[in-house]
Amino acid sequence: METLWKVENLRKVYEIKSEFKREKIVALKDINLEIYKGEIFGLVGESGSGKTTFGKVIIKLIEPDEGRIIYKDTDITNLPERILRKYRRNFQIIFQDPYKSLNPRLPCGVTVMEGIIGSKKEKFEKAVEILNMVGIKKERFYNFPHQFSGGERQRIAIARALSTEPEFIVCDEPTSNLDVSIQGQILNLFIELKEKFNLTYLFITHNLKIIRFLADRVAIMYKGEIVEIGKTEKIFESPKHSYTEKLLKSEI
Ligand code: ADP
Ligand code: MG
Repeated sequence: METLWKVENLRKVYEIKSEFKREKIVALKDINLEIYKGEIFGLVGESGSGKTTFGKVIIKLIEPDEGRIIYKDTDITNLPERILRKYRRNFQIIFQDPYKSLNPRLPCGVTVMEGIIGSKKEKFEKAVEILNMVGIKKERFYNFPHQFSGGERQRIAIARALSTEPEFIVCDEPTSNLDVSIQGQILNLFIELKEKFNLTYLFITHNLKIIRFLADRVAIMYKGEIVEIGKTEKIFESPKHSYTEKLLKSEI
């Protein structure tokens, strides 16, 4: 199996400074793991355990304080931005709130065009094609984000992510805001697109049912640490760590 990501001893500390106090929050403590090419790697943990921080650090949206991030054979931890730029199109992130990646003042088709390289005509045609692939018809190309439903907006955010032809997508609770009926459709879309474009996902969620349905392997995060990692079925059948056991009992 080809290793796409390898992180070593990753650590991230937030410092909160106010007039009255100075506080340090250790969001990631010594994280070591690998993500294989083509897999859906699930990351589960309670709110505040560091999942989003991990997702952002590995694609260098935020800087780690310690450790190494290796993408394929390249240590990208300290690459200067002008070199990192070459890699940026390969990584995307989809948030729980699609408005984080959609500009409310831009028609959705134009947002998708922004990620595409080519002539104006090529950009337009490609954007139509990608939107069609996620289930948004050409007639709605010039509609604004607020004119869509929550599920449709998430589809557009997915199209936006696909526009740069990424290899790896961090999916950060992408269905948590959606009705259960819509959630299923979006999860199926993720699976379909993964097959079509040979994608690798880091799929973050606190929903164990989704993880069981989707993930090949899963890591359980607790207070900034990975307490357990392995094949999804194995973790569900015989959790080793007491926190995982508690998590499974409370959710299923
Ligand atoms: P999760 O996604 O699992 O809910 P986060 O990665 O968002 O966890 O947060 C981990 C911890 O870091 C939490 O205690 C959170 O309050 C804190 N945190 C996250 N982002 C920031 C930030 N920008 N500044 C300060 N603290 C932060
Ligand atoms: Mg989060």
